[in-house]
Amino acid sequence: MRVLVTGGAGFIGANTCRELSIRPEVESVIALDDLSTGFVENLAGLPARLVTGSILDRDLLDGLVDRVDAVVHLAARPSVPRSLADPVASHEANATGTLYVLEACRRAGTYVVAASSSSVYGSVAALPKHEDLPTRPMSPYAASKLAAEGQVLAYRSAFGVPTLALRFFNVYGPMQSVGHAYAAVIPAFIDAALRGAPLTVHGDGTQSRDFTYVGSVAQVLADAVIRRVTSETPVNLAYGNRVSLLALIDRLAAVLERPVEVEHVAPRVGDVRESQADHTRLSTLFPTVRPVPLDEGLAATVRWYQELSRYAPAAMA
Ligand code: NAD
Repeated sequence: MRVLVTGGAGFIGANTCRELSIRPEVESVIALDDLSTGFVENLAGLPARLVTGSILDRDLLDGLVDRVDAVVHLAARPSVPRSLADPVASHEANATGTLYVLEACRRAGTYVVAASSSSVYGSVAALPKHEDLPTRPMSPYAASKLAAEGQVLAYRSAFGVPTLALRFFNVYGPMQSVGHAYAAVIPAFIDAALRGAPLTVHGDGTQSRDFTYVGSVAQVLADAVIRRVTSETPVNLAYGNRVSLLALIDRLAAVLERPVEVEHVAPRVGDVRESQADHTRLSTLFPTVRPVPLDEGLAATVRWYQELSRYAPAAMA
């Protein structure tokens, strides 16, 4: 089987290319990425072929989709704050881009699994979040992911395209980018801790997240394409572990075997307060995937960042 991974040079994309390339069922992997937030280096040493271009280029997409049996659609302009800075760019990449991917898959009759986001639940307070809850996006990013997810489901029912929409929660692990204003919380915390700087917490730190190790996400995505798993409803991709940021900091300090300093700043606009997935559907569809526990995933992630040259002892001095 040949697989196209859009956003394949990004954090989740490159981890997925790695997982796909070790599966015996997969003959070849193509990564399509415009390198807006992804990196060529993420694919170093992998047999995946990188095509540099945009999902907004419909001719390019058609040509690539014709050459594969399945698509993992991850390309997007990620992050809530980035969407507050430029809502139209987020809509174009996330919503319109997904529509173009679906059109290419409709024409070729190709399977597609696509990344949605837990941010679609937005201000809905119920916990854990199960997929039949209403959606109330609190940011242009969340709204663009909801529009994309709606199209993924609509293409399945209207045109019979085999699709699966997975709502990722907070994914973390090696290759997640850091050192910019839009960094996700775990890489930002690890980066600060390794530099000996205080960890910046927005608000009081009691807000919770459901963290999923990227290796577990990549396993679900590989399994989805190999078994062509589809669903008429969205499916949460997280395992129901609700951890406050303060608890996360304690666990990170335990992994690092030293205390870390914390600095509280104002809460961020568009951020949800609590997050925890109901994983009943996920576990039913993917019964063999065993999620990596948080402490193990954190330790692997810290090791990966420590191996980056900028955290070498000389650079930290
Ligand atoms: P990322 O920024 O590392 O990956 C996105 C990739 O898409 C990047 O490599 C980027 O260069 C590429 N890209 C952006 N616009 C493109 C375009 N027009 N054409 C081609 N490539 C383009 O982010 P990620 O965390 O790996 O996110 C992957 C997917 O998962 C996204 O759809 C994101 O919305 C979704 N998601 C991620 C999380 C998380 O916790 N990381 C949570 C919820 C949803």
